[in-house]
Amino acid sequence: MQSIQASDRAVSSPVRMNDSIQARSNVNILIVDDFPDNIELLAFLLSQQGYTTTHAHSGSEALRSIEQRLPDLVLLDIRMPYMDGYEVCQRLKANPKTQEIPIIFLSASDETFEKVKAFDLGGADYITKPFQVEEAIARVENQLTIRRQKIQLEREIDERQHIEAMLFESRSLLASVLDSSVDGIAAFRSIRDEEDNIIDFQWIVTNPVMAKWVRSHTEALIHESLRNFAGSQPFEPLFEDFKRVVTHGQVLKKEFLYQSHSYSPIWFQIVGVQLRDGLAVTFRDITEHKEMELALQDANQSLIQLASLDSLTQVANRRRFDEYFEREWQFAFRHQKPLGLILCDIDYFKLYNDCYGHQAGDRCLEQVAAAMKATVKRSVDLVARYGGEEFAIILPDTEVSGAVKVAEEIRSAVRRLKLPHKDSLISSRITLSLGVNTVIPQALDEAYEAIAAADTALYQAKADGRDRVVYCPLYS
Ligand code: GH3
Ligand code: MG
Ligand code: MG
Repeated sequence: MQSIQASDRAVSSPVRMNDSIQARSNVNILIVDDFPDNIELLAFLLSQQGYTTTHAHSGSEALRSIEQRLPDLVLLDIRMPYMDGYEVCQRLKANPKTQEIPIIFLSASDETFEKVKAFDLGGADYITKPFQVEEAIARVENQLTIRRQKIQLEREIDERQHIEAMLFESRSLLASVLDSSVDGIAAFRSIRDEEDNIIDFQWIVTNPVMAKWVRSHTEALIHESLRNFAGSQPFEPLFEDFKRVVTHGQVLKKEFLYQSHSYSPIWFQIVGVQLRDGLAVTFRDITEHKEMELALQDANQSLIQLASLDSLTQVANRRRFDEYFEREWQFAFRHQKPLGLILCDIDYFKLYNDCYGHQAGDRCLEQVAAAMKATVKRSVDLVARYGGEEFAIILPDTEVSGAVKVAEEIRSAVRRLKLPHKDSLISSRITLSLGVNTVIPQALDEAYEAIAAADTALYQAKADGRDRVVYCPLYS
């Protein structure tokens, strides 16, 4: 039987009293010794420190106790009958459930081979009896600290592995989203100068679709400059837009025509959002859609033009005349500018049709219209078929003298066509009568009166013998 000497001082002055008693009471230390006095003394010392202890008087009792409740530490006497401490230790170390429990051997023997054996079997420490109380407590606490740190470390390793697994999973998820997207996706980081101004962007993430457009690979693009990397230079015009996304947090939405040497032009729908000190951008190829849209616009334009043209003479039709005259009337009224209007009518055209036939009449109308168009040169002037064999010419910002001059030129131009009209009562050729009116509008709603005045002038030209120009003022 071994004895334990403990100094009074050690017993009466507990070590590290400021440690949390509560935390210590959760620590369970199993004391195994075949000598009850030893158990009693150790239990007393440890409970003074706040620890909870359980006791076993033999190796087999110790194993049973551990089976029921795993201790945080075992203080294990080596010399015991039937089953010594070494065997207990061996069994505990052989069992995965118990192998991590730290074991401190207690022995009266100070032989080196004993100590070596204890450590070889997996003992964490070795206390020689009789022991100093402070040293024994310090060794116990040392092992408990190591165990706590080990548990903490294992927990941290577990957490880290868990985070790494999550990270791997989200990276794989991101990679599969990026790889499967039919849109180009990229994220850029701002590059700033000393004054904190953004001077460039750096590619930080991209996907295969995007990389293909800039003739590169996803990995090769990382860290490249947006402005200097040859493949991404066609995006240079977006630089200012990208800057605005980062500096003002504005969402960028725009259509962009991408023109590179490598591809025929691509229309992109671009959406960019701020991403810390940078931005994430998606590029959707909308070329097909855009081409359809442009074709549709062209078709619409042609339709509008068709809808405003007279199909026989290819000059503006009556609808277009009404629209245009109304618009020009309002403009002339607002700016107090003269607006000229000529109404002209082919003389004895009924007789022409009767003589040469309706088809020939149509050809005649075509030629007269063409002659009028060729005579009227300013882009704002409009020649229109007013109805039947009657034409109208709108002359914005034109004084009386100018309008009469144009009317005379038209009359001459038609005469120069020398279209035979043997049944005409005034000539052997096709002739025109023209009524002219030029006015600075005095009221918005008098456009009709201006037309009526030109009509009156035309009627007068007919009455005066045809083949002539007559001017009739609206306001006199
Ligand atoms: P005036 O000198 O008084 O103008 O005599 P006019 O015979 O020209 O006048 P009227 O109004 O009596 O007859 C106009 C004719 O113009 C009637 C119609 O046969 C002809 N006309 C109108 N539109 C067309 C057309 O689209 N094609 C042809 N071929 N003839 C047309
Ligand atoms: Mg013993
Ligand atoms: Mg006529």
